[in-house]
Amino acid sequence: MTTTSTTKKPKTGGEIDSFCTKCKLDLTHRIIAMVGEVVKKVECKTCGSHHLYRRPKSEQPPPGVRATRPRAERAGTTGGSSKGERLTAAQKLEREHTQSWERAIAGQPSSAFSAYRTTLSFSAGELVRHAKFGDGVVSRVLDRQKIEILFKDGPRTMAQAQD
Ligand SMILES: [Zn+2]
Repeated sequence: MTTTSTTKKPKTGGEIDSFCTKCKLDLTHRIIAMVGEVVKKVECKTCGSHHLYRRPKSEQPPPGVRATRPRAERAGTTGGSSKGERLTAAQKLEREHTQSWERAIAGQPSSAFSAYRTTLSFSAGELVRHAKFGDGVVSRVLDRQKIEILFKDGPRTMAQAQD
């Protein structure tokens, strides 16, 4: 409903401004039929013709004003963070991982990677390629048989020197 209600509610027998299809003008009409709250048929007080109610030309909204309101551009992120982006500790850590992973991996030729195998032993900084997890860098040696490899999606504890 987009009636600019300058007048009171229309009712059968009352007057309403309508575009007259015969006079081709906005004119006062008498309401002769309504469906619910909606004016259906009107009688032109000027020419006396009966026709369907048409909103006055003057009331018609200009084309393209479809009221697309820029609401909910950012629906409900964590409440009230004023400065741009605020990451949770986990997100931060993940970002750091990704960044150091990228630093380690970026621009390395595939010959720089050794295929990961549990039987091999690794040292920190070595580049490995895992069949499932992809490229990674050994971030630390945990003990003789365990290393931590930083993969794109985060660090993983992996076995080494198993035999
Ligand atoms: Zn008319």
